[in-house]
Amino acid sequence: MTHFKALQVHEQQGSFVSSVVERRVDELPAGEVLIRVHYSSLNYKDALSASGNRGVTREYPHTPGIDASGVVAESSVSEFAVGDEVIVTGYDLGMNTSGGYGQYIRVPAAWVIKRPAGLTLREAMLLGTAGLTAALCVDKLERAGLEADQGPVLVTGATGGVGSIAIALLSSLGYEVAAVTGKADQEAFLRALGASHIVERSVLQAGVEKALLKEQWAGAVDTVGGDILFNVVKSLRRGASVACCGLTAGVNFQASVLPFILRGVNLLGVDSVEIPLVAKASMWDKLSLQWKIPHLDELVHEVSLQELPKAIETTLAGKQVGRVLVRLQ
Ligand code: NDP
Repeated sequence: MTHFKALQVHEQQGSFVSSVVERRVDELPAGEVLIRVHYSSLNYKDALSASGNRGVTREYPHTPGIDASGVVAESSVSEFAVGDEVIVTGYDLGMNTSGGYGQYIRVPAAWVIKRPAGLTLREAMLLGTAGLTAALCVDKLERAGLEADQGPVLVTGATGGVGSIAIALLSSLGYEVAAVTGKADQEAFLRALGASHIVERSVLQAGVEKALLKEQWAGAVDTVGGDILFNVVKSLRRGASVACCGLTAGVNFQASVLPFILRGVNLLGVDSVEIPLVAKASMWDKLSLQWKIPHLDELVHEVSLQELPKAIETTLAGKQVGRVLVRLQ
């Protein structure tokens, strides 16, 4: 257990290269819990870290991976014992702390959640940060008053990790779901997840200059941001809400107060990374019980560490479909 395999990203003449290397456990940062990682997953943020995005990761060489599930190998706190099965997502994991693309991580106990009984270690990473984020979006919409009989709920970035799980979750809860995608060839995948309407991304990119658009959606989960997000705001029904969690289409948007003051719509921000551990734990419990999503395996593509760099390129090109599960053992 002194050595382990990890994907390591290093800078080479101005570009960033990933390779599988042998690392030493004693190189890992200080922390109360050492975890033997069984699974991780690929999120957009991991792809940014692996491509040298300094907004995500300041120093290289670095092992990305914002998600990990595995078994406690050493613990200096009473809450965790050797052999406990645990989940870690977010906080600094995989950003500036060596992440889940290594067979071991060492982290503060304050980041660690015991695996809920209703999810296996593999299922936890089929969901990962993407599933946690999708669930937090749906939870926030429901707290703002959304109910399944109110009409269609729009999901942008539909074939992505957060988007595909949001569709599967909403559909399993009885919502009518409309999926916005740039991938016309993925209609069958989206319908199998539970989408009943497919909207081409170009439709949501038009009409940026208009103050309001036709009222259509009872609610929305936006994973892409940019002007698409504000076009969603402008096409919400009176009093409806959009949960905003992502930025693949951009961080800025042209906006006006009109949808808010004329239709009383709500723009709800969602963060799944830095929220308190108890909030994460309560959402994981929900995902393991009443919100357990059926057929999760159908939206997953499983890769080894060696296969991961190719999957990262696909994500950076915006071409990934569904979730990528990373197998560490
Ligand atoms: P993915 O890369 O899996 O999915 C993103 C999807 O966005 C793509 O599959 C594509 O779907 C769509 N897309 C890609 N490029 C563009 C573009 N230029 N314009 C519009 N749509 C585009 O990412 P994740 O699902 O992992 O994450 C989604 C977003 O959520 C990211 O921005 C991520 O950083 C953010 N996030 C935020 C969290 C938080 O705590 N707030 C936590 C987790 C993620 P399609 O082709 O179907 O349109």
